[in-house]
Amino acid sequence: QCPWGAPKPTSISCSLADVMSEQLAKELQLEEENAAFPEVVAVAEGPFITGENIDTSSDLMLAQMLQMEFDREYDAQLRREEKKFNGDSKVSISFENYRKVHPFDSDSSEDEVDWQDTRHDPYRADKPTTTPKRGFIGKGKDITTKHDEVVCGRKNTARMENFAPEFQVGDGIGMDLKLSNQVFNALKQHAYSEERRSARLHEKKEHSTAEKAVDPKTRLLLYKMVNAGMLETITGCISTGKESVVFHAYGGKSTNEDDKVIPPECAIKVFKTTLNEFKNRDKYIKDDYRFKDRFSKLNPRKIIRMWAEKEMHNLTRMQNAGIPCPQVVILKKHVLVMSFIGQDQVPAPKLKDVKLSSEDMKKAYYQILNMMQRLYKECNLVHADLSEYNMLWHDGKVWLIDVSQSVEPTHPHGLEFLFRDCRNVSQFFQKGGVTEALNERELFNAVSNLNIAADNEVDFQAEIEALEKVNEDHVQKHGKKVSAFPSDGDPPIYDE
Ligand code: ADP
Ligand code: MN
Repeated sequence: QCPWGAPKPTSISCSLADVMSEQLAKELQLEEENAAFPEVVAVAEGPFITGENIDTSSDLMLAQMLQMEFDREYDAQLRREEKKFNGDSKVSISFENYRKVHPFDSDSSEDEVDWQDTRHDPYRADKPTTTPKRGFIGKGKDITTKHDEVVCGRKNTARMENFAPEFQVGDGIGMDLKLSNQVFNALKQHAYSEERRSARLHEKKEHSTAEKAVDPKTRLLLYKMVNAGMLETITGCISTGKESVVFHAYGGKSTNEDDKVIPPECAIKVFKTTLNEFKNRDKYIKDDYRFKDRFSKLNPRKIIRMWAEKEMHNLTRMQNAGIPCPQVVILKKHVLVMSFIGQDQVPAPKLKDVKLSSEDMKKAYYQILNMMQRLYKECNLVHADLSEYNMLWHDGKVWLIDVSQSVEPTHPHGLEFLFRDCRNVSQFFQKGGVTEALNERELFNAVSNLNIAADNEVDFQAEIEALEKVNEDHVQKHGKKVSAFPSDGDPPIYDE
């Protein structure tokens, strides 16, 4: 017998089976909860960025949105006062400096930290330039007396009774609580979205993948664009790819001084910030001399922004050469806004999806031949992902899109990329019945004018790689790339 007496039997005895079933129950419960309350709570239907359907799961975002809303109202009031102040007077005084919401381009300090000035091409490793803060910072206008605050706060507390009965407000109503307008509004917002959410739970669940693809930070960026009036509304998602999500939006009013006209319909390409998708893209950008100094120093988030930046610069070059492509509206971090190819929210079909008459097919082919030549010669670019997936048929012609991966021909793999593009184009049009279509080797020569003589693919590719190697050796020896591959004069450009 134990000298300290018999141990008391533990009060809760529990069999292994019980533990297991308890755990199982917990797991099931969790699973159910997850299904019922997906992490990203957003409204799937309708325009997804309006004042009403704001995701309330992020406090920071909610606060920022409320602040923006407040600033906008403040500015509206300011404008009214300005108007009243000036009346019909010939000399008017501008209240501009007192405004809180500034044109979208002049950014808040939060953004200045990691926002690079990228208006110049080729890229420079410059430090981001911080624009001096302008305007008036104080808040002289919103002085309220203590009395106002107390009365108003009590009123707000009482108004909580108007919330839906399911919404738990605790025993706040009975207490002498003073809720500030901001807190009250946030609560109201939350109460409404809770109401909608519980209503939705009983409907058939239909969650758009687009919502999940955009993180709160991106949504805030988009919201800012709408709030600044640059975009009217964001109507919905056009495409969700591995690396990007594309939205349609109606353009708003120009917000910057240089008065660039915003197209009536815009496409917003959001480069995904989930990094693993981009790993296989390293080879495009790592060897691009334009990024040589920058690549090693950058964190992955910035690398993704560079894709957006690259797309912007490449589109600009194409635009300048008169190649049909989307026109850049604005670049903001990893979000690129451009003109929409299509009409009334319907994007132009990809070449792979459209059934063209043999006449149009032939026309499209010659247009692409011409575009590839000008892309190479005038823009000094190789598309590097050219295929029937990235060509749209709109307005009786072909438009090139998706050029974030495009490189200069002297990129260490530039000619290989060009050859691949040529193969895609040749095969597509040969299969499509265009008898005039050159084969991939002929097309390659017609675009680059390198006149590689090999009559079979293996030798042809070997020669391409040899050329690339010459270029690489030059870089090793002289520390800079050759300006262009030697060719026999200018290629005869196919002219429509
Ligand atoms: P990804 O890298 O995901 O392929 P893309 O730039 O090709 O990105 O865009 C995906 C799809 O979105 C395109 O196939 C096209 O249907 C649509 N899209 C992209 N940009 C535009 C635009 N400016 N106008 C109309 N549709 C567009
Ligand atoms: Mn694409």
